[in-house]
Amino acid sequence: MAKTKSKNFIRSIIDNDLRTQKNGDRVVTRFPPEPNGFLHIGHAKSICLNFGIADDYNGPCHLRFDDTNPANEDTMYVDSIKEDVKWLGFDWQDKLFYSSDYFDKLYNYAIELIKMGKAYICELDVEQMREYRGTLTEAGKNSPFRDRSIEENLELFTKMANGDFEEGKYVLRAKIDMASPNLNMRDPAVYRVKNAPHHRTGDKFKIYPMYDYAHCMSDSIEGITHSLCTLEFENHRPLYDWFIDELDIECHPQQIEFARLNINYTVLSKRKLLELVETKAVNSWDDPRLPTIAGLRRRGYTPGSIKEFCSRIGIAKVDSTVDIALLEYCIREDLNKNAKRAMAILNPLKVVIENYPEDKVEYLKAKVNPEDPNTSYRELPFTREIFIDHDDFMENPPEKYFRLQPGGEVKLKNSYFIKCQEVIKDQDGNIIELRCTYDQEAFCGKAADGRKVKGTAHWVSAKYAQDVEVRLYDRLFKSENPQSFDNYLDDLNPNSLTVLHNCKIENNLGNLNSGDGFQFERTGYFCVDKDSTSEALVFNRTVSLKDSFKIKKK
Ligand code: ATP
Ligand code: MG
Repeated sequence: MAKTKSKNFIRSIIDNDLRTQKNGDRVVTRFPPEPNGFLHIGHAKSICLNFGIADDYNGPCHLRFDDTNPANEDTMYVDSIKEDVKWLGFDWQDKLFYSSDYFDKLYNYAIELIKMGKAYICELDVEQMREYRGTLTEAGKNSPFRDRSIEENLELFTKMANGDFEEGKYVLRAKIDMASPNLNMRDPAVYRVKNAPHHRTGDKFKIYPMYDYAHCMSDSIEGITHSLCTLEFENHRPLYDWFIDELDIECHPQQIEFARLNINYTVLSKRKLLELVETKAVNSWDDPRLPTIAGLRRRGYTPGSIKEFCSRIGIAKVDSTVDIALLEYCIREDLNKNAKRAMAILNPLKVVIENYPEDKVEYLKAKVNPEDPNTSYRELPFTREIFIDHDDFMENPPEKYFRLQPGGEVKLKNSYFIKCQEVIKDQDGNIIELRCTYDQEAFCGKAADGRKVKGTAHWVSAKYAQDVEVRLYDRLFKSENPQSFDNYLDDLNPNSLTVLHNCKIENNLGNLNSGDGFQFERTGYFCVDKDSTSEALVFNRTVSLKDSFKIKKK
């Protein structure tokens, strides 16, 4: 039985298979990406499911690259996929495989099919193939090449494999049933000629197996017991079963389908993500606006938050769309608990504290993480000139505005109360500086005379703060369902990236590495971007502080 309590219908099937000893005590799963793009959060769902099940049932989970289409595949994608799976915290140990490892075996199985009279070489062109195929309401017609002799089929297949034919002229097809109500069973292609070098086998092969054939056979060759895939493959299951039954090989994995993950305001399809990268709608596969694992990582998401998200959405049999706010909720929960705090000012407004001595510096204590009962403390230098955020001041505020205003008072976080005495403007009337006074007797939220001040502002010392660039991200698409557009690219949000220069951050955060995450107090969660240099730090906003998502407590 599974160790975990989180049951889903797939785990119930596995429990039952163990009870009936269908595969003995074996539970073997696999995650089978095609290396034609970077992984996205939808793949994370499949990774958590497959590796999670393997872990719970003490079985292996294979990482297998389904690399049967050399035209779109690349070693760069193989490397990125391995990195992402590892980063999520999963381990395939020595179970790393490639469908291309089985090309010789798959070729031999195809010969067996031909010898059994279960496959033939067809010469219909694409157009004719479509015509003969029929429709959902109309049966297809047999190809005129369907009854070739086994000898002739073998000879033509060998020639295909030798590279004697150009692409498209000859195809090996399974001989199943042109009248089947399931279009996938109407003599599907098994092998086609492809003149493209393969990223692993180079020029060795001139023909490549079709996905539907290679996928199930690879599962079977590897001894997979439960082959978990998304619902769009439900109609392919009879074909999957047909190949394995006809070829009479020992292991017959059971394909089980589950609903794919869709998230609003984004697209989850490698083809579309590739288009976004290639058309430069985003900067790279790891652009923090993308729902790729690499993008989420760069944005500041943690493996734990992604796994928590996958656990909360669960595994179902019906497609649905998940609110992206749930993903944001999961990272907020994680970072609120675990991120170090820092003071940073995104939109700086200079404040001169007139009654504070010019050369004085006080080092004020602040908790590194108030959520941690064993938190350490950091020191914030306090000086006569500080920066607060423009958003914390209003010259003509509405009623019940508790932040700074002319004549008004606020508490500086971890510091004194200040009162605004004068507003300084430039020639155009823009506010460029505030003149304030501080109360030495009112510190860390408490005034000696007991007076209550409601508003709080965060601040950094003008003298000691460091200039940084901050990148703010908004949704990549304007509407909830970009796929509803004729061209989803028309729905791109032109304001998905805002770059702020000369933001100010406290400068005592120690040695920073790319990916280090912080809560900028009162502002949001941010992380160090890989574009940072020792001279110039760049931060990405992971997510804002406020939660827009109403969550039912687990
Ligand atoms: P895409 O549709 O993004 O191009 P894909 O299905 O072509 O993805 P594969 O490399 O074939 O990508 O996917 C590897 C595995 O990940 C498959 O088992 C697939 O079912 C699963 N997977 C892909 N997208 C999702 C998703 N959105 N939700 C859950 N699982 C997914
Ligand atoms: Mg696919």
